[in-house]
Amino acid sequence: MQFKKIKRGMTENGNLLRADLYPLQARQPCYCQHCLNPLQFRITHAEGRFFEHDLELSDVNQLEVCAYRLSSLPPPSINASLSSVWTAVNGGQHEGYDLGNPRPQRFLCVMCNYEYDGLKTCTRCHNNLYSTEVRTGIR
Ligand SMILES: [Zn+2]
Ligand SMILES: [Zn+2]
Repeated sequence: MQFKKIKRGMTENGNLLRADLYPLQARQPCYCQHCLNPLQFRITHAEGRFFEHDLELSDVNQLEVCAYRLSSLPPPSINASLSSVWTAVNGGQHEGYDLGNPRPQRFLCVMCNYEYDGLKTCTRCHNNLYSTEVRTGIR
């Protein structure tokens, strides 16, 4: 997980505390405004003063939704491919969707986690709802 540099934290009393004004001697505990996880104060030559999440003490579930988190590439999501399949199914047989122009391809049936070559009907469970195209990168 990657995060933006945090310039403002929150004290235990809920007061905002700017990294610029952080009292070096006091070592004041500081929390993220967004996910309320503990912050660590950093000071470096190159980057100046800033806070970053204290990852060891942080709640990972909250870190994932923190507004300071840099969005990384979305992982290949089975849910996303499932929902796009469902949309296509529920919206009828639209042209442009794979069903309209069948040609043998490599598919992965997420229902039984089985890869096969064919026309989007799993050769194991004979279901075509759960198959998703496998992009091998080979042309
Ligand atoms: Zn946070
Ligand atoms: Zn299957």
